[in-house]
Amino acid sequence: MIIFKLSDQLSAYCEKERKAGLKIGFVPTMGALHQGHLSLIEASMTQNDITICSIFINPTQFNNKEDFKNYPVTLEQDIERLISAGCDVLFQPPVEEVYPTAFVSKEYNLGQMEHILEGFYRPGHFQGVCQVVERLLSIIHPHVLYLGQKDFQQCMVVKRLLELMQDTPSIRLEVIPTVREADGLAMSSRNLRLTEAQRQIAPVIYHTLSGIKQNLHTKSLVQLEEEAKENLQKNTFVVDYVSIVNANTLAPAQSTTEPLVAVVAAFLGDIRLIDNLILN
Ligand code: AMP
Repeated sequence: MIIFKLSDQLSAYCEKERKAGLKIGFVPTMGALHQGHLSLIEASMTQNDITICSIFINPTQFNNKEDFKNYPVTLEQDIERLISAGCDVLFQPPVEEVYPTAFVSKEYNLGQMEHILEGFYRPGHFQGVCQVVERLLSIIHPHVLYLGQKDFQQCMVVKRLLELMQDTPSIRLEVIPTVREADGLAMSSRNLRLTEAQRQIAPVIYHTLSGIKQNLHTKSLVQLEEEAKENLQKNTFVVDYVSIVNANTLAPAQSTTEPLVAVVAAFLGDIRLIDNLILN
């Protein structure tokens, strides 16, 4: 595996491979890699000639300083995992390579998406996501970009970003299903910060989402949301939201004839966990 730390060098490498007719898949991450990340790498490897993974904890997408400071870092283990998975390239830039002094930030028009759910509870988060994704794409120019369904709203925001970036050659977005632990907990780098006791409780999120799916046609949507919230609170979660929304727009669901997804964000102690489940 080749490790690049400098943007210009990675750009030159990518350009050369692209001109040679090779197809590039790109998997952006913030590290502390787990099987969820590796499933994106594996998908890219089967569909492309070259797979590039980036590890960069993007400061501009953290609305909470403590969360940024405490974000887990397991770089040596990450490199080992990427090599075992057969990843071709790791981009592990210092912050000044992503945001050089000449970098000019801009405002992305994300519409309503920016102000609901994650956007509401994490102001500025999606602007930061767009900023880093656009910058990484401009360095790499991949053919395919891989994201996880675990971050459902992020996938929609990046889809919008790709529409906004019309002047760049088209990049296909591939969304990969959420990988879970055996007990249902969605794999997440932040799970590393859970205490043993919190880790025991954490799968309640998935069981709550599954309960919504099971009862979709036996209870009203409002009742399902209320019961889900109560169940999480009973299990010591502090809930930001648990909502049943339209899977195409994220607007509150009106009926079960729409494509629906249940989305949740809740704290265990100071660790914020998110998850979602497609309902129909
Ligand atoms: P992160 O390192 O958390 O920024 O995640 C990097 C990419 O991996 C994002 O596209 C995530 O949606 C994806 N990802 C994170 N956790 C999972 C998971 N459990 N299953 C599948 N993809 C995931």
